[in-house]
Amino acid sequence: MKHGTAPDSQPLVVFGPRSLLYDFGVDHPLTPRRFGSGIDLLRAVGADHFLPPPEASDAELHRVHDPEYVSAVHMLSEYPDAGPMLGFSTWGDDPPFYGMHEAAAAVAGGSIAAMDRILSGAATHAFHPGGGLHHAMPHRASGFCIYNDTALAVARARDAGHRVLYVDLDVHHGDGVEAIFWNDPQVLTVSFHESPTALFPGTGFVQECGGDDALGTAVNVPLEPGTSDASWLEVVHRVVPPLAAAFRPTILVSQHGSDTHAYDPLAHLNLTTRAMAQAVRLVDELSHRHTEGRWLATGGGGYDVYRVVPRAWALVWLAQAHREVPDETPAAWRAKWAGDAERHFQAPMPLTMLDPADLVAGEPARVREANLRTADTALQSSLRSLPEISAA
Ligand SMILES: [Zn+2]
Repeated sequence: MKHGTAPDSQPLVVFGPRSLLYDFGVDHPLTPRRFGSGIDLLRAVGADHFLPPPEASDAELHRVHDPEYVSAVHMLSEYPDAGPMLGFSTWGDDPPFYGMHEAAAAVAGGSIAAMDRILSGAATHAFHPGGGLHHAMPHRASGFCIYNDTALAVARARDAGHRVLYVDLDVHHGDGVEAIFWNDPQVLTVSFHESPTALFPGTGFVQECGGDDALGTAVNVPLEPGTSDASWLEVVHRVVPPLAAAFRPTILVSQHGSDTHAYDPLAHLNLTTRAMAQAVRLVDELSHRHTEGRWLATGGGGYDVYRVVPRAWALVWLAQAHREVPDETPAAWRAKWAGDAERHFQAPMPLTMLDPADLVAGEPARVREANLRTADTALQSSLRSLPEISAA
């Protein structure tokens, strides 16, 4: 057991029946099917401390969302055909569905409730696999995200007087969280994502670094398509620890979208679960070094729901529980989900928790060079500005 943590201390996992309600329909990539295979694997590796998400109130949602937007979600939730409006359309990323306000408010409520447990000291590490809806904007839905649970949790901590470091490892830019805290010197957002020239949402260039009152507190590291474990990890290790040391956060919030994986159908990075495992261990270490362990991790994107998402979630939980990663995935788990995986063209089920090192080809030297250049630019421009923010 590392870090002097009590042996029986279990990370809190936000999950309950309401988690399954967030469902844009059968053909939508962000499917509640991931909770079947995903929560099942979490239980198999040892998770047994669950918090069912409560619904966030309108007043809570208004902390980051415009009241007019929340009212519109209520209306579309009863009349899904009333659109298109505010990012919702039947043909787009966010098709309105009956009951979507309640479903989205439960995702938001789950992250808020987990943060409240951390703030009260009832929990130190918490994980919300269904959270991480980082694209939702104050006034519109975007990229499968209705309410920004991540930003709401960050806001909760910030309003309690904390300095918050937000680390976004999803393959897409954490644009909603960044926008909401753009000019807030108490919140540092850092996002690693595939280049905006190649992928949604088209923002997150290295030059984007925060508003006039908070320069240096938005950090963006756009990565080349084809990036694999080696340079992704190198970049994360090069950027996050010095930022944490300079910013001195008192709470950590992280987003662990697994759509960076080579198997993911929606993006073009080439990661394996090996990189994810190491990155989440780094976040754990930083939480013990800087924030007395106070750390809320969320899920996020991830659309290979049998081969990738469950293992990515298990790796977060194992890091939070300070347990070794088992070599193999449980045979009973593989057997249980093999049929579904095959039906959805995501077979065979993986035999090992960590992918074999040769799952993907190595990355070209120019990819690594470009990524390291970007990381250094992002880091240096933030480190130049942070002292002024801290002194202000
Ligand atoms: Zn820990």
